[in-house]
Amino acid sequence: MLTLKFGGTSMGNARRIIASADIMISRAQEDRISVIVSAVSGISNRLQDSIDGCIAGNQAEGYVAELRQTHADICSEIMSTLTGFNAQDVLNRLEPAFSEYARLLSAVSAFGECPLSVHCRIMGMGELLCAPIVEAVLLAKRQSVLRLDSRKFIFTSGNQAEGDPDYARTAAAFAPYRDGDAKSQPRILLLPGFICSWSAKSGETAPGLLGRNGSDFSAAIAGASLGASRVEFWTDVDGIYTADPRIVPDAILVDDMTYEEAMELSFFGSKVLHPKTLAPLAAKGIEAWSLNSHNPAARGTRIGKGPYSVSAESGPVRGISCLKGTAMISVSGSGMKGRSGTAARIFAAVSRAGISMLLITQSSSEYTISFCVRQSHAESVLDILSTEFDLEIREHLINRIEVQANCAIVSIVGDGMKQKRGVAGTFFDALASQDINILAIAQGSSERSISAVISGANGDTAVRIAHRFFFNTAQTIEVFAFGAGTIGGCLIDQIRDQQRGLAAQKIDIKVMAIATMDTMLVAQGGVGSAGLDLSDWRADVAASPLQTSLDAILDFVRETKPLNPVFVDCTASYDLPERYIDILKAGMHIATPNKRANSMSMDYYHELRRTANVMHRRFLYETNVGAGLPIIDTLQNLFKSGDKLTGFSGIMSGSLSYIFGRLDEGATFSQAVLEAREKRYTEPDPRDDLAGLDVARKALIIARESGMELELDDVVIHRVFPESFDASGTVDEFLKKLPQVDAHFGELMKRLRAEGKVLRMAASIRDGECSVGMMEVEQSHPLYSVKGGENAFVFHTQRYSPIPLSVMGYGAGAGVTAAGVFGDILRTVSWNPEV
Ligand code: ADP
Ligand code: MG
Repeated sequence: MLTLKFGGTSMGNARRIIASADIMISRAQEDRISVIVSAVSGISNRLQDSIDGCIAGNQAEGYVAELRQTHADICSEIMSTLTGFNAQDVLNRLEPAFSEYARLLSAVSAFGECPLSVHCRIMGMGELLCAPIVEAVLLAKRQSVLRLDSRKFIFTSGNQAEGDPDYARTAAAFAPYRDGDAKSQPRILLLPGFICSWSAKSGETAPGLLGRNGSDFSAAIAGASLGASRVEFWTDVDGIYTADPRIVPDAILVDDMTYEEAMELSFFGSKVLHPKTLAPLAAKGIEAWSLNSHNPAARGTRIGKGPYSVSAESGPVRGISCLKGTAMISVSGSGMKGRSGTAARIFAAVSRAGISMLLITQSSSEYTISFCVRQSHAESVLDILSTEFDLEIREHLINRIEVQANCAIVSIVGDGMKQKRGVAGTFFDALASQDINILAIAQGSSERSISAVISGANGDTAVRIAHRFFFNTAQTIEVFAFGAGTIGGCLIDQIRDQQRGLAAQKIDIKVMAIATMDTMLVAQGGVGSAGLDLSDWRADVAASPLQTSLDAILDFVRETKPLNPVFVDCTASYDLPERYIDILKAGMHIATPNKRANSMSMDYYHELRRTANVMHRRFLYETNVGAGLPIIDTLQNLFKSGDKLTGFSGIMSGSLSYIFGRLDEGATFSQAVLEAREKRYTEPDPRDDLAGLDVARKALIIARESGMELELDDVVIHRVFPESFDASGTVDEFLKKLPQVDAHFGELMKRLRAEGKVLRMAASIRDGECSVGMMEVEQSHPLYSVKGGENAFVFHTQRYSPIPLSVMGYGAGAGVTAAGVFGDILRTVSWNPEV
């Protein structure tokens, strides 16, 4: 005997029902089978809605007509493809159920309430209606099938809606079908899931239920009672995944799982199987399989005794689950300490009310006991405990009983976890990386699971980040690009060109938004979002009707909770950097070539870094100095490891590098400036370069990086032009006047040439001073040969002495700058630990 269970996902419509029947038939060739079917998908929810609606005063008729129509539609659809299936015959057979439904629902509507026993009858209607349809399909396919009424075979007691099976009585009822002569038995036994016969303590019996999603449990009870060699659970996914594939699209299919692992996962919220399902199967060593009725060829997941080896890829964790809709209750006070009786009283009081605790933790100081219950039980628990500890509360032995509503319990589960160190640490690191606050931690007594209680709003994010840490699935980067000009545009092109290559390295980079001065383009958010299609992004942004708005982007990020959002500021905006704090607080990293934020006040400078730390986000600005050259990161590594800056000199402007280089090649000053301007090395107004302010900003950033507390005003800028020269006027006027300084520089160069020196416009840091200006440089100096647009950074440190650390190369240009920003973006994932 095999037992097969088909869930609502396999009973969705006529086509699915027929496909499921074909699976039954193929299994029936292997052995006799017993089949448990759920209601048609969606029906259980609609039955619940009808009860709620009628309690609220709605009329029953509409709901009844709707239920009748749904089943009539399915029947006539089946009839159109399956000869021998007579829709009218089947509907006639369903009629008694419809009329009972109408009767019960009218009563609910009339009384405005729904007693538990009525609730159980109504909720079980979906399964009662579905089984005859499946039976008729099997008969039309000439199968030997016998439909049984589960209420005559499965017996429960306890909670009427969520009963505990009486296995002895159930086994006795099934005995004729288990022990009888196989040849005279029907090949297929068909039973509706979920429903059963319930007995009250008083002995009275009534229809009962096996709890939400109880059809899984029905199949396990039937399979165990019928002595099945295997129980198959047919649903709409290829098996059990490392996490709910609806939350983690790249979850990994698990081949084998032990009973205990699967029980723990379903207890902690995995929807795959009803939590109680596996106990009766484990007790008899009957293997369970999770299979896909939409893809019967897939192997599926086996659940058995194990042990099963873990693959290198999956490590010790077999799955991650999330149980939402829970509340955490904490009882604390000095009266708790050393009084083991208090804990026992808490547990006893809650359990007397029939409320189960999902998880329990005690703080090591013993002052607090916390436990989780379903959200719907929170109020009652609070009442129960307030009454139970009335005296202690009045005597201040217990300070308070606190309820934290809307929590989620995220759990990692795996038999191998107890042998492997660091698993818990990785789990908490994962949550911390998303700044998710952990309210409580509990380890299953079997050491097979670790659970964290967090705010319900963070449930999905927690599962996704934990999954990424444990299963090393692709790391995501969601880019929000502000500024799509020369550098920004180049960056987006680079991302587009590299997307595939990075995917091969398990980095899933997508651009979620591109904003220009006027319009922005925003991708569809949420789990599994593919980001923007970048093939024609320039035209798409230009045509977008959305006005650029940072606040809209921040709202988007707060709502869709991307895992690793990076805000990229490629604008020259003066204002945007003032909002970096808001951006970090919304949970985004920042990567930017914009120097403004780092040259604002020292207070803001520290505030930015503090916020980034608190939020576990990174503020990255490698391209602030030297564009793509490795300056900032290099310095940070030096100083983190204890080195100290003793002096710095650098040429940090391509235009000034070019102009002063041309002077020692014999050009006049005005010639050099004009050439640089023609080559577009300078800004449109060369005075912007010659004034040295941009270089001063970079020098300030290097100084601050090396630990100096300095404002921009503290950077001394020495004038390039002689006092006598009036550099005012329009650009044209200025350029026309410029030859006036040629004689001055000509003299200067003559003297320097005689002394074997050259003139360089450089920044320097020495003795706590930071300055920008012209330097006379002799041949042995590292800046002597730097010209033609090249940048040079010369760091004297305690370790790099007497020969300094020098970095040279092109310190400007859209391509190298964009690449530098790209590098920063990739740094947001590089700290990820390997499990
Ligand atoms: P049925 O109606 O057949 O009982 P369910 O909807 O109850 O099907 O269960 C199947 C669904 O369970 C899948 O579609 C999937 O979204 C969800 N699910 C949750 N966690 C997991 C997991 N770890 N592995 C596979 N499926 C999961
Ligand atoms: Mg189910």
